[in-house]
Parts: sequence; structure tokens; C-alpha cells
Amino acid sequence: MSPVVRPDVHTLFHIDLTWFEKNGRDLREEMHGILCEQDRARYVTPADAGIVDRIHPVTAEVARVDALWEAIADHCGLQSGFIAPTTPLTTAVFRALLANGNQPMSPEQLHKRIGKSNPTAILKLLLGGEIENGIVLFEKKG
Ligand SMILES: [Zn+2]
Repeated sequence: MSPVVRPDVHTLFHIDLTWFEKNGRDLREEMHGILCEQDRARYVTPADAGIVDRIHPVTAEVARVDALWEAIADHCGLQSGFIAPTTPLTTAVFRALLANGNQPMSPEQLHKRIGKSNPTAILKLLLGGEIENGIVLFEKKG
């Protein structure tokens, strides 16, 4: 048995993509819905967004990714108002992870990114009874 780790504000969370399928929700549809106007004009429907080369902003590595992820991580997610003070906390956390290309983030990192609430409250929210937007503990494989 693996040791039980008590999650804290440094514990990593990510979006479980299979959760959307299991719950009859279409993640690409939802991602398309939060594109900025410019990208929504470029990708009129989710099907219009194919696979593109994305150059990692830090490592300069090139990866083939879904254009919706690329747009949100490199453009829409950087626009002011993507996460606004009035954005509900659950939505803000979800958007922060999308804008991070679904790289796992801790409540502390999420707090810094969304600029509201506090790490402890975000942790509580993520561990709360119901899974919101498929956000679950990130378990390292292997
Ligand atoms: Zn955009």
C-alpha cells in the first residue's frame, strides 16, 4: 500500500480529462466557450481547432497539441479579464489550470495565479465533497 499523504497547500491538482467523458461533458466545447473573441473568430466551432505545433514558452520545445489548449495557454489565458475578480472561485481555478496547459498546480500556485481567496480555502474547495470541473489530486505515475 502506498503511504497516505495528507494534502496541503503544496499538493498538486490537475484536470482529469476522463472525468468529462464519464460525466457526459465535453471539455473541448467548454474550452471553446472561454476563448477570446479573436480566437473564437479563428476557430468557429471546436472542430475547427485541430492539432498545432506549440513552442513551449520556456523550454522552446516543440510539441503537437490541441489548438484549443495552445490558444488558451498562450493567448486567451493571458488576456485581462480571463480570470476577473467577479469570476466564481471554482471557475477561476478551472481556468487557471486550462491556462497552465493542465500542468498540475498547488493551491498556493493557484492562489497566486487567480489573485483571490487564499491557499487554504482553495485547498478546501478542491477537496470538497463534489468534484468540480474534473479537478482532482495529481498522482505521479511510476
Ligand atoms: Zn485568444
